[in-house]
Amino acid sequence: MSAPTCLFCKIVAERIPATVVARSEHSLAFRDIDPQAPTHVLVIPRRHVQNVGELADAPRELADLFELAARVAAQEGLGRGYRMVTNTGSEGGQIVFHAHVHVLGGRPMQWPPG
Ligand code: AMP
Ligand code: ZN
Repeated sequence: MSAPTCLFCKIVAERIPATVVARSEHSLAFRDIDPQAPTHVLVIPRRHVQNVGELADAPRELADLFELAARVAAQEGLGRGYRMVTNTGSEGGQIVFHAHVHVLGGRPMQWPPG
């Protein structure tokens, strides 16, 4: 298989480093390089898809992704609550076009989001 060009595919392939906090069959969780909260972890499918919506026809991978996100939240001690964000498309604030869920916690979250 040819070398991946996508940033998060490179993290999955261990071609660039990341602080991995949890793994599952289909997903990987690692700390965001620019944390916006005391806990800021990205949970991604190992398979390259552009956004979470593209996993709608892959229920096992989708469930695995959200199971790992919940496991990370528990592992990080976020029992009082946390926020999951999936920016989708440029107007949704997505910068990296490999599906990911942000798991943010450790401080009170504001609403509405910016
Ligand atoms: P989004 O705007 O939803 O596409 O979020 C992309 C996220 O990836 C941002 O929060 C970035 O800080 C984060 N990010 C970019 N490069 C890396 C990296 N090499 N390791 C970990 N997180 C990264
Ligand atoms: Zn990718």
